[in-house]
Amino acid sequence: MAIKPRSVRVKSPATFESTNPATGEVVGVFPVFTKSEVEDVVARAKVAAERWANLSFRARNVVLRDWASTLTRDMKEAAELIHRETGKPLSDATLEVALAIEHIAWAGKFAPRVLGRQSRPAGLLMFNMAAQVQRVPFGVVGVIGPWNYPIFTPVGSIAYALAAGNAVVFKPSEFTPAIGAFLEESWKRIAPFKDIFTTVTGDPATGVALTESKVDKISFTGSTRTAKKVAAACAVNMTPVVLECGGKDAVLIDKDADISKAAEMTLWHAMSNAGQSCIGAERVYVHRQVADKFKAEIVSLAKEIKPGFGDGAKYGPATMPSQLKVIKSHIDDAVSKGGTFLLGGKDAIKGGYVDPVILADVPEDSLAVTDETFGPTLVINTVSNMDEAVDLANSTSYGLGAAVWSKKNGKRIASLLKCGMVSINSAFSFAAIGAVPFGGVKDSGYGRIHGAEGLLEFTYPRTVVKRRFRIPLEFTTFERSERADRILVRLVKLLHKRRIR
Ligand code: NAD
Repeated sequence: MAIKPRSVRVKSPATFESTNPATGEVVGVFPVFTKSEVEDVVARAKVAAERWANLSFRARNVVLRDWASTLTRDMKEAAELIHRETGKPLSDATLEVALAIEHIAWAGKFAPRVLGRQSRPAGLLMFNMAAQVQRVPFGVVGVIGPWNYPIFTPVGSIAYALAAGNAVVFKPSEFTPAIGAFLEESWKRIAPFKDIFTTVTGDPATGVALTESKVDKISFTGSTRTAKKVAAACAVNMTPVVLECGGKDAVLIDKDADISKAAEMTLWHAMSNAGQSCIGAERVYVHRQVADKFKAEIVSLAKEIKPGFGDGAKYGPATMPSQLKVIKSHIDDAVSKGGTFLLGGKDAIKGGYVDPVILADVPEDSLAVTDETFGPTLVINTVSNMDEAVDLANSTSYGLGAAVWSKKNGKRIASLLKCGMVSINSAFSFAAIGAVPFGGVKDSGYGRIHGAEGLLEFTYPRTVVKRRFRIPLEFTTFERSERADRILVRLVKLLHKRRIR
């Protein structure tokens, strides 16, 4: 499928370029949607939303299946575009597209099971009523996306919102508008009618316009700083919001862990995508009995990892150049506070690329431990036991994901972590499982995408109760008799009064 950069609209003379962060090549030119254009798109989506919501789950599933299969056919092209627009290796881009397709298929298939009508027991006092809960799509969901996983991340909202019966207006990151346009084009090929899923490109002002528009829900993925602005804007119109924000994920390594596997996977967990993963490993707490072995193994593997854009590169450049300053400030701060380099040094940043940096014994109040670095850097601190590791892992303001490495105690350690997702003896794996929710707590946000919870997130419950037959004891009327009052009290006592021991 050919990617045609959209022509500049007369109404919107402002355009912006998307460039390859590795080569500077222009990937495409895209319109900056103005506030009034965003409002127009949302108004059209409102009309489409009604028709889309009126289709059966089965009919929507057929459309989502078609979308998954169109994207599968165009997988190579999608991956190449991601590779060019973010700089990440082609194989990582391909993995990203594959996972996004899985989520589209899962959302379509499971929507009827999760969102179908449910009957609920009405209870003894209301035994003449039939009680039902229906899940109702909100209408139009505005999805605001980041650049680091420009298909996988927004599809986690887009597919689940669509499967639940909403129309979607998607604002991709200004660093990855071509992917946003690609998604819209691929959807249009299979869409039963127009305006169900639309992309609006532009800078943060376009995102602001979406949050201020008449959308019925916002699903935002990006930094915690922006999330707070988005939540504040949504509060004005009481627009509900899902916030998928940053993280400072910890890896906890117990003394009984498979150290070689932990080193191999933690390296990928920390450095893949140039460390630009919300659920990337940024801190390791390793038991002192195995710390030397773990450090030696991960450093030896990391020495083989080289960034670049061509074949053989394990990760690409920083997609957003301003992040390089943050990475540098975290490295400098860690070293000035007493941290030591196990690999790399202050000169790790070379042009747009960052060589792998591994630091040890970094004080817990350093920026490299407290704040999201979003670079190919890793802090390894040693602990005396796993309780200490858990305390330290829980002590940042973030709570997105974590990994635990232990043969015997993985589940116990996982149960103590204040975060939304934990993988035991693996890295990242929860993100690839359609059936489980994705999201965080604390500064990492609230609400969930993926899984049944992700489908429920894009609907609201509507309770419908129906009087099935008349009974002499009707309570919700001025005609209520004294006898009814007496029976009510007797019933409540029977049901709830217990002798207090
Ligand atoms: P960002 O916050 O700078 O931007 C995200 C999106 O918000 C962009 O599309 C941007 O144009 C838009 N935006 C900016 N200001 C806005 C405003 N005031 N109102 C509405 N929209 C606005 O984030 P980023 O740099 O694109 O992405 C990186 C961040 O995203 C990292 O912190 C990363 O951890 C986080 N992230 C989180 C998840 C997750 O699922 N939790 C997934 C991927 C990335």
